[in-house]
Amino acid sequence: MIVYNDRGSLSKALLPFRLHKKIGLIPTMGALHNGHLALVKQALEDNDCVVVSIFVNPTQFDKEADLIKYPRNLNLDVNLLATLEGTILIYAPEAIQLYHGNISSNNYSFGNIENEMEGKYRKGHFDGVGTVVNLLLRDVEPNSAYFGEKDFQQLQIVRKLVEIEKLAVEIVGCPIVREESGLAMSSRNKRLSAVQLEAATLINKTLLEVQQKFQHLSISKCNALVEERFLKNNHLTLEYFEVANVKTLKTAKHKFSNKDYRAFIAVFAGQVRLIDNIALN
Ligand code: AMP
Repeated sequence: MIVYNDRGSLSKALLPFRLHKKIGLIPTMGALHNGHLALVKQALEDNDCVVVSIFVNPTQFDKEADLIKYPRNLNLDVNLLATLEGTILIYAPEAIQLYHGNISSNNYSFGNIENEMEGKYRKGHFDGVGTVVNLLLRDVEPNSAYFGEKDFQQLQIVRKLVEIEKLAVEIVGCPIVREESGLAMSSRNKRLSAVQLEAATLINKTLLEVQQKFQHLSISKCNALVEERFLKNNHLTLEYFEVANVKTLKTAKHKFSNKDYRAFIAVFAGQVRLIDNIALN
């Protein structure tokens, strides 16, 4: 399996696929797990060639420490991708190259989605995400690009980005892949101790409880329920829990029968920040 470090060599390798063949792209930050592999498998089914980009994007981190501690192991990632059958190219560019010499974010307006939840708690995060996804889409020019619902808000942001940048690419959303314990798979899980890993199962358990009770509980009661569950846990700190409208991602205060809702959560286990979400109706 070949790792391409620059757009020139990647473009050359993609040439045979440009006419009459389909190219899929999966942008990742590496430390790959089965959640990423599910996206790759879906892309392999839909396309003739799949590019997996592995790039820890500095402009989307609001905390330097989080960027420094982000797990990186290209060799392990290559070996994991090599277990899959199909044509996979790995694109692992240097930041300075990918960013054409200027490592900074564009200022995007994504129709206010960027100001909700993750955008509220991680300033500048979605400008960084939008900038890097735009750069990757322009380098690879795929027919379709795959993103996980694990980062549901990011998926909506990318859909907006494609409209804003007028890119001819189909954005495919893929379901959340979970550990047997229910914990959403994440590269950040590698930084959790055994005790924190066990404690973190409360995140999905609580989301499932809210999902189950949603029909009969008001949104304020759902919020109170979640707060209570996390107050009782010594290993986890709730950053936010929100029930939001699926389309606008605005916080919902009251339920309307003709609207779709999703619950979103961010939790700290020590220094490690974990997010998850679930459809409610
Ligand atoms: P990351 O490497 O964390 O930036 O993730 C790369 C892509 O994989 C993003 O589109 C994520 O939403 C997706 N992804 C990460 N974890 C999961 C998961 N557990 N289930 C589904 N997709 C995931």
